[in-house]
Amino acid sequence: MEVDILSLFPEYFRGPFDVSILKRAKEAGLLTIRHTDIRDFAENKHRRVDDRPFGGGPGMLLCPGPAVRAIRSVKRPISRTISGSRVVYLSPQGKPLTAAKCQELALQEHLILLCGHYEGIDERIITAEVDEEISIGDYVLTNGCVAAIVLIDAVARFIPGVVGHPDAVWNDSFQDGLFDAPQYTRPEVFEGMEVPAVLREGNHAKVAEWKKREAWNKTRRVRPDLIQEGEAL
Ligand code: SAM
Repeated sequence: MEVDILSLFPEYFRGPFDVSILKRAKEAGLLTIRHTDIRDFAENKHRRVDDRPFGGGPGMLLCPGPAVRAIRSVKRPISRTISGSRVVYLSPQGKPLTAAKCQELALQEHLILLCGHYEGIDERIITAEVDEEISIGDYVLTNGCVAAIVLIDAVARFIPGVVGHPDAVWNDSFQDGLFDAPQYTRPEVFEGMEVPAVLREGNHAKVAEWKKREAWNKTRRVRPDLIQEGEAL
C-alpha cells in the first residue's frame, strides 16, 4: 500500500512510522508513506494557506486552492490495471474508523490522507476532491495529523505480512464483534493473583469456551452497544 499524507506539519510524523512493526513494514516494501507540505502549493510569497471564514466565527480555515492542488499533485487516475487513489479527509464529522473500515481501506493500493488544521477546511475541498471523511472518535483534535497516524497504524495491521503471526489480527478485539479475551503470561502467580487454571491445563476446547465467555462478559459490561439486542453467548 502507498500512502500520501498532506498536511501543514510533515515533521509531525517523525517517529511513529520509524519504529517497530510499521518500520519493518516499510523496510519490507509492504507500506510506503510519503509526505506533502500543503504550503508548497501556496501562491503567495509568505506561503500563507489559511484565511478567515466568511460569515464570521473564530479561527482560520485552510483555503481551497493549496489543498486541492496538493491533492491533485499526488492523485492517480483510475485505469484498467490500477484502482486509482482514495482521498480521505480526517475529520470529526466523518464516519467512525472501525475495524471493518480499516479492513476495507487495507485493500486500497493508494490512499491520500488530508489533514486539516486550525478551525477546519473550506467545504469546497471536500466537494471537489474528497471521497470520504473519516473520524477517529467523537472529540475534536487540534489537527488531523494524529488521526492520520492512528488510521495508518490500524489499517496497516490488515495488510498481509505486516503483523508477524497471520492469526494475530483475526483474533483481536472486534473481529468477531467482541473484545479479545483476557490474556496472561509468566509468572503463574503475581502479587497473589493466579493465572486461571483452565489456561494452564492444556484442554483446547475448554480454553476456547473460557475465552469466548470472558470476552462476551467484558464486552457486555463495557460496550453493550457492540452486542445485538437479544443476542446470547
Ligand atoms: N471546526 C471543526 C469541527 O468542529 O468539525 C473542527 C476542526 S479541528 C480543530 C482541526 C482539524 O483536526 C480538522 O480539520 C481535522 O482534520 C482534524 N480532526 C479533529 N478532530 C478529529 C477527529 N475526531 N477525527 C479525525 N480528524 C480530526
